[in-house]
Amino acid sequence: MLNRREFFHSLLNYGKQKDENLFVLPPYNFNRSLFYKFCQECQKDCVDACSRVCKEGIIKSNGKSVYVDFRVDGCKLCGECAIVCPNGVLEVGEEGWENRANWNVAIVIEENLCIAHQKTMCYTCKDICQSVLGISNAIEFIGLFYPKINRECIGCGMCIKSCPTNAIGIRERENV
Ligand code: SF4
Ligand code: SF4
Ligand code: SF4
Ligand code: SF4
Repeated sequence: MLNRREFFHSLLNYGKQKDENLFVLPPYNFNRSLFYKFCQECQKDCVDACSRVCKEGIIKSNGKSVYVDFRVDGCKLCGECAIVCPNGVLEVGEEGWENRANWNVAIVIEENLCIAHQKTMCYTCKDICQSVLGISNAIEFIGLFYPKINRECIGCGMCIKSCPTNAIGIRERENV
């Protein structure tokens, strides 16, 4: 079995997103050390549960642990992965699913890649956010341009693959 350092190193090199040093943990986790403790030996029911609710499944396994790949799709925040987790790594709660996802990352727009920051009109991300989720304020524009993702964002990642210039990425969330 890998030691703790090797375990997290293997995740960093496999589950990477835009930032090569950052990976997205499945939602509803409140103790990250539990991934190290349980996931390697687990049957990874969360992967199967997610593939039942998402077409391709966004929870992936590298054989040792699990991570979310927003490049495949966004998260429906359905809670199915937490319901089936046998080890309490992902926790079922009584509050609304959307409000307790506790992502380890935040969704951000990289201004140098976003065409609306170069004064070309584009609302793709906002359209997705509004039409799919009904969230009207998660992406704010100043006038017609300069979109920013604000605190209303629930971290679902639905906007990520919709962006024509791959300008939407992730950064580590503080105070997780
Ligand atoms: S909440 Fe649902 S869609 Fe999101 S990762 Fe879990 S099973 Fe997949
Ligand atoms: S079901 Fe739970 S313990 Fe098993 S791999 Fe998924 S998060 Fe880890
Ligand atoms: S979809 Fe991408 S390019 Fe268009 S406004 Fe949103 S972040 Fe910018
Ligand atoms: S990640 Fe945030 S901004 Fe993007 S679609 Fe989801 S709620 Fe909207």
